[in-house]
This record gives sequence, C-alpha cells and structure tokens, in this order.
Amino acid sequence: MGLECKACGASLPNQATTCPACGAEVPPLAPKKTKLLPLAAFMLIVILVIQAYMNKPEPEAVEPAPAAETVAP
Ligand SMILES: [Zn+2]
Repeated sequence: MGLECKACGASLPNQATTCPACGAEVPPLAPKKTKLLPLAAFMLIVILVIQAYMNKPEPEAVEPAPAAETVAP
C-alpha cells in the first residue's frame, strides 16, 4: 500500500524489488538506517588516521643530535 513504481506508477507489493508491470528496480525502503553506519565507519577511519598522524614521530625528532657530545681533542 502506498508504494508506486517510479518508472510507470504501478502499485507495487510490499517487498517487491522489481516492478511487476515494467520490471524497473524498486529502491529498498527505509534508507535512513543504512546511512548511519557508513558515516560512522568513515568518521572512525578519519579519527584513526588523524591519531596515527599525530602519534607518528617525525624522523628528525627520533635521531639524537650528534652535535651535543662533540669532544674537542
Ligand atoms: Zn513500473
């Protein structure tokens, strides 16, 4: 009830994936629930990348400065 084919306007059964009249694909219902998970995964990946970037020591900071222990002969 209430479902109509976007292509031809025929009424569709509740769980129809294709229109029985024209054969057009019917988009699934309730797309709002599935939108949150990819967004959360994307945010998690972004946070992990940012954290990995922040914790990554710079190559210059790791090496000790050799100039600190110069002994004059
Ligand atoms: Zn149709």
